[in-house]
Amino acid sequence: MVIVTKPDATSAQIDAIVKRIEGVGLEAQISTGEQRTVIGVIGDKTLLGDIPMESMSGVEKTMAITAPYKLACRQFRADPTVIAVNGTKIGGRKLAVMAGPCAVESTEQIVTIAQQVKKAGAEFIRGGAFKPRTGPYSFQGFGEEALKMLVAAKQETGLGIVTEVMTPNEVELVGEHTDIFQLGTRNMTNFYLLREVGRSKKPVILKRGMSATFEEWLLAAEYILSEGNPDVILCERGIRTFETHTRNTLDLNAVPVIHHLSHLPIVVDPSHGTGIRGLVSDMTKASVAAGADGLLLEVHHDPDNSMTGDGAQSLFPDQFQKLMQELKPIAIAVGREI
Ligand code: PEP
Ligand code: MN
Repeated sequence: MVIVTKPDATSAQIDAIVKRIEGVGLEAQISTGEQRTVIGVIGDKTLLGDIPMESMSGVEKTMAITAPYKLACRQFRADPTVIAVNGTKIGGRKLAVMAGPCAVESTEQIVTIAQQVKKAGAEFIRGGAFKPRTGPYSFQGFGEEALKMLVAAKQETGLGIVTEVMTPNEVELVGEHTDIFQLGTRNMTNFYLLREVGRSKKPVILKRGMSATFEEWLLAAEYILSEGNPDVILCERGIRTFETHTRNTLDLNAVPVIHHLSHLPIVVDPSHGTGIRGLVSDMTKASVAAGADGLLLEVHHDPDNSMTGDGAQSLFPDQFQKLMQELKPIAIAVGREI
């Protein structure tokens, strides 16, 4: 249940509401918005007894949350979630742009690409240190060494780091280096991993499982939120459909649907969503037009020699730079900036 307070509710009235909730052993989560405060009640609301919360001064109304993802749902917070990280904000008016290679291959590679994407206007360098490969014989990433290379790229450019974590016991190590954890499509339902990043203090990009419904995806986010980490960023990266021409089918319905269902920000990854370089720019523009809060893009200066198979979907740095310019008027048209 959520309790919506009146616009003129005083802090004493809000304190009294919280006291009543906590007094019966329930948890109160307060979300202070620009217009009003929303208090989420976690636990069995029958413990509040028969006297309706509406009878307390300062309360405008109560609403039952029928969605199974209580903390992730729209009603739970007064305003959309905005995540402050490395001097930037994700979920605000300005789009967050995260760009870089599929995998970190060398210090030289990651520093070079970081400099190029920074020049074009990105705020984060992405790159896998631990790679979730479909086959066991494919390049699995350079692990801890690659984390250090990402830190070198950050030191050189000031860009924040986005990198994937695959197992609960690597959360601590990856968290010592990264600014944002990425949880990949293959790990969306790795519930121990979701809980472990939920106990960390770093923001988490949660990619949509390749066959996950919106409800399953939001329930995965709920695992993270329920452990106390409020900073979840959803990422649409394409789903499996009958179509084989593209690597995946980028489901841009996700952007308005998630904005309707949840207060969490959503970014789009048109690189994995299409798998084809020549389609990435158009689908990035479509993502911005649809209202995405940010972009996750693969960019490589030498994609033909990339160590993962994702060179074919990586933009060249000059293509990325051109795209960033072309996105500006689209962002403005939908009330955003880039
Ligand atoms: C990636 O970002 O390189 C990646 C492996 O993504 P996904 O989990 O979406 O396949
Ligand atoms: Mn990739």
